[in-house]
Amino acid sequence: STATETIEFQAESRQLLQLMIHSIYSNKDIFLRELISNASDALDKLRLESLQDKDLDVDTSDLHLELVIDKENRTLTVRDNGIGMSRDEVVDLIGTIAKSGTAELLAKLKETDPAASQELIGQFGVGFYSSFMVADTVTLVTRKAGESAGVRWESAGEGSYTIEPVDDAPQGTAVTLALKAEDAEDSLHDYANPATVRRIVKKYSDFITWPIRMTPEKAAATEEGEEPAEPQPETVNSMKALWARAQKDVTPEEYNEFYRHVSHDWQEPLETIRLAAEGTFEYQALLFLPQVAPMDLYMRDSRRGVQLYVRRVFIMDDCEALVPEYLRFVKGVVDAADLSLNVSREILQQDRQISAIRRRLVKKVLSTVRTMMTEEPEKYTTFWDQFGRAVKEGLISDHDNLDAILEISSFASTHDAEKPTTLAQYVERMKDGQEHIYYMTGDSRSSIESSPHMEALRDRGYEVLLLTDPIDEVWVDQVPGFDDKELRSIAKGQVDLETEEQKEKAGEQREEFAGLLDWMGTTLADDVKEVRLSSRLTTSAACLVNDENDMSPTLEKMYRAMGQ
Ligand code: ADP
Ligand code: MG
Repeated sequence: STATETIEFQAESRQLLQLMIHSIYSNKDIFLRELISNASDALDKLRLESLQDKDLDVDTSDLHLELVIDKENRTLTVRDNGIGMSRDEVVDLIGTIAKSGTAELLAKLKETDPAASQELIGQFGVGFYSSFMVADTVTLVTRKAGESAGVRWESAGEGSYTIEPVDDAPQGTAVTLALKAEDAEDSLHDYANPATVRRIVKKYSDFITWPIRMTPEKAAATEEGEEPAEPQPETVNSMKALWARAQKDVTPEEYNEFYRHVSHDWQEPLETIRLAAEGTFEYQALLFLPQVAPMDLYMRDSRRGVQLYVRRVFIMDDCEALVPEYLRFVKGVVDAADLSLNVSREILQQDRQISAIRRRLVKKVLSTVRTMMTEEPEKYTTFWDQFGRAVKEGLISDHDNLDAILEISSFASTHDAEKPTTLAQYVERMKDGQEHIYYMTGDSRSSIESSPHMEALRDRGYEVLLLTDPIDEVWVDQVPGFDDKELRSIAKGQVDLETEEQKEKAGEQREEFAGLLDWMGTTLADDVKEVRLSSRLTTSAACLVNDENDMSPTLEKMYRAMGQ
């Protein structure tokens, strides 16, 4: 038709598609999981929309997915009667990659070997484009709920796609894959084989809360020429919410698949956490700690929060009221029994029950990490490497859990060049007579270690924490100490390291040098507040120190960089 437009893929999409077509994935089966996941999201969205918009004229009585195989033509269709997409949405969502971090991802992929790139792209989540691993052509027909006209999108995954209006599209979305001939030879991965498709659904999408239907093939006519009954559609997935099942009945594989569904991550979770409360306010939660931090973890509008369900019904993604910002990497689901299906984000922020869940959830996450430290130290190391910087934000924002956060924190220290230390381990190693926990902030380990401030501490064999994250500058000023020991900067004020004998000697020296100090103080009056004799230097002649309440040089630099 004349209304057919051909549109070039955005450059980044084209590159990603090339990766898909030349399949960097060893496991092609996952394309079906991605399409089912999108369809399931579309059904969630329609159900919500119909609750919120009473004028929306849609039938939500039989929301479902349907898988249709055409053996002869070798096509597989994934259909849903969900929210659908407008023409502009198709162009935006399917023709463009809106995800933040795509450019960085592609740049990194170029530098790494194929095995590593598989892992990288997994972190990114492949989504719709994964269909091109198994299809020569992908056709998407969709009509948005409430709109009268639909659109047809088609592409071979190369440079461009076509898009055209269609009049008779049913509401929702149907994605049809013209399957590659090469996969037909391998019956385990022949996606035109119903048994293969069923197996994949059971494996990856069993917990999807909407029915996934397949209609069995019609049997051949009997010898007497009798036509067998029309086969009826069957639901392939069990639709059981994992968090509502007894823990012992859920396999690790099921948890892993569910994690992939909620997180859009490709790997297994680092840790699975379940909690439940009964009684006046009932809820269940199934939470996950990922293995790898998402690329946007430290970007301003990185996504945060877990999914909220009410009595098994999906309510919203990224429910920020349920997790504090410093735990924004936690994924999963909270299912609350006593909330209205119509809750809004604004209401949730004020809700006392939600605050109670949030408090409990935070404590549970922190205690899980603490258990990990002793029982699975390698896991803990991974966790801290990936998320430590985010967790430390909690030292500033979450005073109620300050001690718990300090307990699970690790820091680089002079004790070991490689391995970070916990504060508890530091305290255990403290020398006789050492009263405080010493630290210094700076740009890098080497710059701190070569600082003249280190000399006296090194001489005494005192350990110093080397704090090099920008966030360290902020929390050290607000956290008084740990385990009754004060946290002391070795670069600020008087570091009290003297014995009685040394103090006496220092007193004598001060008298002896009083004239010199006076003279220096007057001469340097414009640049320094005070000139003092110091016991902290052993080989350097002099060093500049900050006053107790002054900003540290790194913090000064940070503020200056921010234009303040
Ligand atoms: P993701 O699901 O991670 O957002 P995808 O590549 O899988 O990424 O999908 C991109 C977007 O296309 C989705 O976010 C959604 O807005 C839209 N989309 C994909 N499939 C469907 C569908 N079946 N119905 C409605 N929208 C869809
Ligand atoms: Mg998706």
